[in-house]
Amino acid sequence: MTYETQPRASHFIDGKYVEDSAGAEIEVIYPATGERIATLHAATPAIIEQAIAAARRAQPAWAAMTGSERGRILRRAADLMRERNHDLSVLETRDTGKPYQETSVADATSGADAMEYFGGLAASLTGEHIQLGENWVYTRREPLGLCVGIGAWNYPTQIACWKAAPALACGNAMIFKPSETTPLCALKVAEILHEAGLPAGLCNVVQGMGEVGHALVTDPRVDKVSLTGSVPTGRKVYAAAAEGIKHVTMELGGKSPLIVFEDADIDNAVSGAILGNFYSSGQVCSNGTRVFVHRDIKEAFLERLCARLDKAVIGDPLDEATSFGPMVSQRQLEIALSYVEKGAGEGARLAYGGARLEREGFYMQPTVFADVTDDMVIAREEIFGPVMAVLDFEDEDEVMARANDTEFGLAAGVFTRDLARAHRVAARFEAGTCYINTYNDAPVEAPFGGMKNSGVGRENSKAAIEHYSQLKSVFVRMDDVEAPF
Ligand code: NDP
Repeated sequence: MTYETQPRASHFIDGKYVEDSAGAEIEVIYPATGERIATLHAATPAIIEQAIAAARRAQPAWAAMTGSERGRILRRAADLMRERNHDLSVLETRDTGKPYQETSVADATSGADAMEYFGGLAASLTGEHIQLGENWVYTRREPLGLCVGIGAWNYPTQIACWKAAPALACGNAMIFKPSETTPLCALKVAEILHEAGLPAGLCNVVQGMGEVGHALVTDPRVDKVSLTGSVPTGRKVYAAAAEGIKHVTMELGGKSPLIVFEDADIDNAVSGAILGNFYSSGQVCSNGTRVFVHRDIKEAFLERLCARLDKAVIGDPLDEATSFGPMVSQRQLEIALSYVEKGAGEGARLAYGGARLEREGFYMQPTVFADVTDDMVIAREEIFGPVMAVLDFEDEDEVMARANDTEFGLAAGVFTRDLARAHRVAARFEAGTCYINTYNDAPVEAPFGGMKNSGVGRENSKAAIEHYSQLKSVFVRMDDVEAPF
């Protein structure tokens, strides 16, 4: 089979590409130029039906295979993804606008890690034996059945893999709906899984907007929903899933704190703040966008930060030298710029950037506001763009209370050389993923997910297995049954 870079049709169902031009058109726009690179169609009810029927049909035989057999296919898919990293990274860049410098190390590679990790885990999934005197109980770890994944647009390959890999490892079938903004990459993931030997019907991709997601979430034949998206969408999807008492994983938004104490290594803290605010042009859910810097080092921190931002190479994302690309869409650019206006209007000091770039595509400068206060909109709402808010603080108790004073709880970070303080602060953070002297690492071996309104459940690591399988207890009596009459 020859490898083609661009997917061949809108949907991937039952092991093959499927088109239905009766569905509403979805234009795929290359964010670096604004030009249309593909036109897809949203799933019609007939397409949704085809995907659900194929998945339900294929799942029991998949669940009946041994874990090693399932795992081998996932690990083969991981190898194919790594072999094709260049093409997959180019596609990710065209879908999202993120620089190739990033996509070549953070997207298909992260997806391949998930395939490899869960492929490796599949053979070791077991129940347990519980002895009760002469009698006993054993538990069977069983799949949930049909899982639906719904993705955001910032990491289309990674999100598809982070959901499909654990779901398939546990013996489930998957239907994935990408964001309409970035519909291409997940199709390649499904194609590669099937090329690796996945039986037809187990990983399906259907396109569409919220209605298609809603139709999937509310179908009684769907057992689990895993959403990566914003808090408002999470509320709707969680409520719709609750109606059918379905299992859920919700990976939602954040406004995470990053605390830099006066004893921190300032250059490392600046690097952490750059990774936590400007990677993927700031379109990362776990970003540490509220940067609390101790008053004693605030000006030194800002000076070094601005000097480093001067070194950002903004330009064609397919050029390997480019380190800062466009926003994903005109809409997302406008949202981020509207927050720049709000920040200036509320009296924050614009320390860097703030402007749209005079060129084609959806580019803006990396932006830093200093002297931000807790009540400002730019310190409270998720912007999902390259806009950093720097806030001052004086002591640990004060900054902890302020850091945790948010509806979100996705991530949090601390830079300090004082180890006791670092662990004390990590323990006090109300956030699912915390960082000490680093920021935004997301290895597949570690659980990832949010507290508070940032979500429920965890992705990656052994914890994800709990969210894609269920336990059945089987009681076994060896002696006579005693009944009251
Ligand atoms: P949205 O919440 O707008 O959309 C997420 C997905 O849900 C899209 O595929 C969307 O379809 C779909 N959707 C929308 N409405 C419904 C509905 N009623 N029923 C079912 N599905 C629906 O998020 P964005 O795509 O704008 O992504 C940005 C958000 O995602 C940010 O808040 C960010 O923090 C969060 N995010 C969280 C991550 C995490 O792991 N915690 C990681 C990455 C992003 P469509 O858009 O096509 O209409």
